[in-house]
Amino acid sequence: MALSEYTGRTPRGYDQETTVERVAPHQRWDVDGERQGDCSNCGDELQLREKHLLVTLTRKPGRNAERHHLCGQPCLDEWLVD
Ligand SMILES: [Zn+2]
Repeated sequence: MALSEYTGRTPRGYDQETTVERVAPHQRWDVDGERQGDCSNCGDELQLREKHLLVTLTRKPGRNAERHHLCGQPCLDEWLVD
């Protein structure tokens, strides 16, 4: 499944007004110290300088977009359950 096909879906635990705007492969190169994040699906710790997926969610107008890091597509499939 292409990453663009996840657009418009709603993640687990969110209302239907929150949808995926964009999924992109992500890798941080600006390593001033270890940058880490937690996968929004499984909670595993991610090293942000290693490849993972960056998911941008859109919400109601006037609310800020949220950015989420996920391990990879298997976690994305579990997280987007709509
Ligand atoms: Zn994960």
